[in-house]
Amino acid sequence: MSVDPLAAVHVCEDLHAWEAGGAQSPEKLAAWVDARLKTHAAALEALLAIDHPRTPENTLRLYDAVIEQLSLAGAQAGILNSVAADKAVRDQAQHEAQRIAQAGSALSLNRQVYDALAAMNIEACGPATKHYVERTLLSYRLAGVDKDEATRARIQALHEQATRLSLEFSRNIQEGAKTIMATPDELAGLPQDYVERHKPDANGEISISTDQPDMQPVMTFAASPALRERMFLAYHTRAYPANKVVLEQLLTTRQEIATILGFRSWADLATADQMMESAANVRTFLKRLDDASREGAQREHAMILNFARGRQPDLGEIDITSRGYWYEQYRRAEFDFDSQSVRPYFPYQQVEAGILATAARLFRVEFRPSKVPGWDPAVSTFEVFEGEKRVGRFYLDMHPREGKDKWFSASPVVTGVRGRYLPEAALICNFPSPTADDPGLMQYNDVVTFFHEFGHLMHAILGGHTEWAGISGFATEGDFIEVPSQMLEEFFRDEKLLQSFARHYQTGEVLPTEIIHRMKRSSAFGRADGMRQQLYYTTLSLDLHGQNPSEIDLDREIRRLYTRLLPWTWHEGNRMYSSFGHLTGYSSNYYTYAFDKVIALDFFAQFDSASLLDGDTGMRYRKSVLEQGGSKPGRQMVRDFLGRDEDFGAIMRWLNEEFDSR
Ligand SMILES: [Zn+2]
Repeated sequence: MSVDPLAAVHVCEDLHAWEAGGAQSPEKLAAWVDARLKTHAAALEALLAIDHPRTPENTLRLYDAVIEQLSLAGAQAGILNSVAADKAVRDQAQHEAQRIAQAGSALSLNRQVYDALAAMNIEACGPATKHYVERTLLSYRLAGVDKDEATRARIQALHEQATRLSLEFSRNIQEGAKTIMATPDELAGLPQDYVERHKPDANGEISISTDQPDMQPVMTFAASPALRERMFLAYHTRAYPANKVVLEQLLTTRQEIATILGFRSWADLATADQMMESAANVRTFLKRLDDASREGAQREHAMILNFARGRQPDLGEIDITSRGYWYEQYRRAEFDFDSQSVRPYFPYQQVEAGILATAARLFRVEFRPSKVPGWDPAVSTFEVFEGEKRVGRFYLDMHPREGKDKWFSASPVVTGVRGRYLPEAALICNFPSPTADDPGLMQYNDVVTFFHEFGHLMHAILGGHTEWAGISGFATEGDFIEVPSQMLEEFFRDEKLLQSFARHYQTGEVLPTEIIHRMKRSSAFGRADGMRQQLYYTTLSLDLHGQNPSEIDLDREIRRLYTRLLPWTWHEGNRMYSSFGHLTGYSSNYYTYAFDKVIALDFFAQFDSASLLDGDTGMRYRKSVLEQGGSKPGRQMVRDFLGRDEDFGAIMRWLNEEFDSR
């Protein structure tokens, strides 16, 4: 096979896997990915073949083409794996995603590429290019590229082992469903439609699975403490004991990688290229979060406990298996808010139009419906304009479909590069579908999720005009990525904004202020206690990766942390670590959510609460944060927008927002 070495830096014409037939045919998908991988390989070959002095123009340009092809192929294989109607296409897409990941992992340990990049003189480059090169070299060193060949082989083997163990851990959780039996009496308190879907068998027994739609209502509504307890134990042991062993092996493998690379612990390694920079900084952050949430959580616990003892004088303490139940009882009694009552104000089409209008005004862009087809007839396409200039495109695939996955996510489709590719991104969601006789009424939490995902989407589009693919859009540090999404979520809390699109689908009535207040009070209650749950997960994720794994007793560890951080009585037999799925992807860095929440709330506090969408704050945020993509450290973007580092003022106000003033 002969390839034109310059082909790699030509602009790719064949940008969409589905237009090449890849959404219908596994063969066509494989051929499309093949073409990307060939261009990738050609660019890599051309990069290594250069024999004159290395410059960003002759070397980084090719390296970025190497990255660009992997991102393009990876993004669309990922999307088709989630959305393709045909199982054969999804299987092929999964296979292609693994093939692309392997090419990526080989690249990350390629010593010659590292040497080529390190040989460039970047003195005269602009700050974005310098940042790109420095960050890339750092990630190479963190991967162990500068070790000798035997050591690199050992590292690669350990990484493969960690990947295998992670997959096994996830699969054990996914496939580890358990079933508990209940008597008809024990279903007291559960919603009528739930009871109707759970009929007794011939012996008069009802079987209930640990799947989310079966489990969650039991923990929230079932009046029987015995049923809640059985469900809690089944749910938290659904992957136990298998995953206890898998987790111990995974922690040991990760520690060995960290040791070879010269780090004291995996947590130190995994934070070295993040905003946090070190595990010690995570600890300092967690201490502040602990202090910020302690009093509020004690107050919330005391209120629920008093309420519950009023209802049930012999109660004693509230056990973790009853926390959700008493929360629900308390919310109903104290806030008079039923989340079902607002659904008629949130029909899907109206919400979509409202969120698009909000983002368009906030970021001074325009969204025009487009005729460009997506991967399925159900997908709608929009072009993003700034004045008369087209600056990007997005695809909305928003409703459940046979074979489509069940998650909510935002994904790049084409990584934008200035002068080469306009950014394209997609939302893959599962909101209720509008039909002839049902307008697809959404829960208010769904509307918050829509805002969240749209925040990611705007980041990909507005941040997709950088000079390099490797620093475009989402390519920030991993622990900054949930800032733009959690920032946009906050717009849901604005009454005027909400009333601009929340109208009753039958009567046209605007969502009454009185209901919004009750909804806000009800959702503000429990925030401090919820934050301490996060603190417990976060500390566990850090602690398991911060010490010698051979000394960790998982059962002792979770019990110790739990009783230190949470007021609800510990329940013996709780093995939550065995189904804590985030331990695979996030490893020690589960802190990302809480850390980004602190930043997002501080960002949001910069907007004028009297008129969120007017004024210049939206544009300032767009320019100093979103448009930067990954071309600056997150730390710098925070300082550019706030004029200082983030502080805890905004989250303190959020945690202690008035929920009891009536
Ligand atoms: Zn997110």
